[in-house]
Amino acid sequence: MSSNNLNLTSNSKILKSTSIPTLISGPCSAESEEQMLQTARGLINDHRVHIFRAGIWKPRTRPGLFEGVGRVGLEWLRTVKQETGLPTAVEVANTKHVEEALEYGVDILWVGARTTVNPFSVQEVADALQGVDIPVLVKNPVNPDIQLWLGALERLNRAGITDLGLIHRGFSTPNNKPYRNHPKWETIQQIRSLAPGIPLFCDPSHIAGRRDLLETVSQQALHLGVDGLMIESHINPDVALSDASQQVTPAGLTKLLDALDLDHEHVASKEQLQDLRTLIDRLDHDLINLLFLRSDVSKRIGEYKRANALDIFQAGRWSEVVEDRLRLANEIGVDESFIRAILDAIHQHSIGVQNEVMNTPASVKKEAVK
Ligand code: PEP
Ligand code: MN
Repeated sequence: MSSNNLNLTSNSKILKSTSIPTLISGPCSAESEEQMLQTARGLINDHRVHIFRAGIWKPRTRPGLFEGVGRVGLEWLRTVKQETGLPTAVEVANTKHVEEALEYGVDILWVGARTTVNPFSVQEVADALQGVDIPVLVKNPVNPDIQLWLGALERLNRAGITDLGLIHRGFSTPNNKPYRNHPKWETIQQIRSLAPGIPLFCDPSHIAGRRDLLETVSQQALHLGVDGLMIESHINPDVALSDASQQVTPAGLTKLLDALDLDHEHVASKEQLQDLRTLIDRLDHDLINLLFLRSDVSKRIGEYKRANALDIFQAGRWSEVVEDRLRLANEIGVDESFIRAILDAIHQHSIGVQNEVMNTPASVKKEAVK
């Protein structure tokens, strides 16, 4: 299989079950049964939340930080599911995580950014999932390497996982400002064309790293047509044991969702309109630049006419110009009277420019330049 020719057997079910973007929310980390239940109870008040997430094993950059509650968190998660009916999702990074998550009936697994970078780890997760029918989402690797991301999808697919999805969570780049992880938005288009048909989520929380950027990042991702969002929420974000500055309360999530344009078709048509407006802007700029160049040439013609004592208006030449431009307009199908009106305006302006040149003695011009 060539690296650009991904041949996945994909059959995405749970991830595209709704008409609005699929929303995954819940705490960065499971911390206590109370924290999990209160967060989940808050989230179900908003019917736009489809899946409850929680980190059970936390990959931390430095040892000694909160590394997740482990197995007991899976018990709390099971209680959340029983009480709220929300399907649950956790991050897995090794065989033990997979086995325990399956033992507790977790509905969806995801591979985190720090795991996707390591093919040994991804293969271990894939091997542990051999023969299991469960949706698996793959976050992009920490570094902007699309092939690693695709490689992880392929490893899982070869282990028989067909319900696959991708999560764009931004990248570590030399300058991530103002983000925590740079979105490199062009990646969305690239991964879409390399893995067509695989649902694509965006994780604005890990891109933004701070609450005040969540709306902009989420809306941009929706404009780019992502199928869903994963947004971290916590009943009391300020005291969260991980990612405190980027989590929102359930009420904060509702406020955020209210502010977003979530309608797929609406977003798509807005996107098209934006593209067309950008094109018009560019064409208008080109037109103005061309008119400037044309006006400059008129001036030089004026200078030539002055030096050679010629009349400004030469009727024969202008009829030829009009005839030639209208022929072109007809050939390419532009309305003739529209072009005639524009040519008239251009001609008037051109005569004005040449008159000014003719009436300004060459010596005056030079002095003015001094
Ligand atoms: C997370 O989702 O809490 C997490 C650790 O994310 P990432 O793998 O994107 O860093
Ligand atoms: Mn987190």
